[in-house]
Amino acid sequence: MPKLLVDRFGRMHDYLRISVTDRCNLRCVYCMPEEGMEFEPEERLLTFEEITEVVRVLAGLGVRKLRLTGGEPLVRKNLEQLIGMLSQIPGIEDIALTTNGIYFASRAEKLRAAGLTRVNISLDSLKADRFSLITRGGDIRRVLDSIEAAHRVGLSPIKLNVVLMKGINDDEIEDFLQMTIDRPVQVRFIEYMPIGHQDDIWKNRYLPLSTVLERCAEKGWTAAPSESVYGNGPSQNFRIEGALGSFGLIHPISDHFCETCNRLRITADGNVKPCLYWSDEFNVRKYIGDDAAVEDLFFRALDIKPQNHEMAEALMNQDQSHTPTLRRMSQIGG
Ligand code: SAM
Ligand code: SF4
Repeated sequence: MPKLLVDRFGRMHDYLRISVTDRCNLRCVYCMPEEGMEFEPEERLLTFEEITEVVRVLAGLGVRKLRLTGGEPLVRKNLEQLIGMLSQIPGIEDIALTTNGIYFASRAEKLRAAGLTRVNISLDSLKADRFSLITRGGDIRRVLDSIEAAHRVGLSPIKLNVVLMKGINDDEIEDFLQMTIDRPVQVRFIEYMPIGHQDDIWKNRYLPLSTVLERCAEKGWTAAPSESVYGNGPSQNFRIEGALGSFGLIHPISDHFCETCNRLRITADGNVKPCLYWSDEFNVRKYIGDDAAVEDLFFRALDIKPQNHEMAEALMNQDQSHTPTLRRMSQIGG
């Protein structure tokens, strides 16, 4: 019987999110402060060879799906090369990318040729001015070009990540839903998470995703639960009658999210995180080259993976045996 990454609660982990950098060319308001971020020096980042080694060991333990993230993964030089290396590993079936889309369009072809199988593009507003405000300077045209490029090179179904914030972009829910009617995309509404000490802003801006279904009904659209799009994880999916695309709700705060969690994370500096929310981390770097030690580290990480992230109680009573992470989302990878 091969060893598999199964935790105390019977959850099988076949999905690894790899952050390749903590740097970013944007400063989204819910993710990074405008100024004052300190970044890991380059020598502390796992090299492409080290990442490939870790993934090779994990593929032997049942990991099949990878997602490259960041920071902005496309600010890491030669990402195509890493994708090429990962795609050669026996057992790896799926290599996805989460990007803000600023640098994607011109590289779509090469990324695809290297072995990229899917892409998620973050797009929190369809209005150019507002997009620029949310991202602190991002040019929406580049993101829209990237969506076109992703279609052109055959990276479908394209998923668009929308973090909903009360009073910032919740008046665009209907526009995003309309987009799923007109185009073969999957819009994924994500609840704003209180990660990295932004409690006050979070309290004011958090919006439960039940709002999306309410707005959909108010428009007179019938949304039926839809098939799970491959690799969707915690997304609850719907399709509006007659729509070319679909939409997903990712509600880490207001609804079940952890029960079916199949993911492990590794930060750009080599810290394995069993859960997005808690501070527990295990640095893998010094074990690379010793397969048994790398396996052991991942099993130790899984052993303490909590059943829940308890983000809903983020500002109230929590499980005292773990503490919330001090990392920002850009330092974890989402
Ligand atoms: N830079 C890439 C991007 O923005 O797509 C990848 C990294 S980003 C940290 C990954 C995802 O996390 C993005 O879709 C982003 O919108 C989301 N995200 C960042 N901070 C968040 C927060 N506080 N709550 C919910 N989602 C968040
Ligand atoms: Fe950068 Fe992505 Fe964070 Fe925005 S969400 S600041 S694009 S890492």
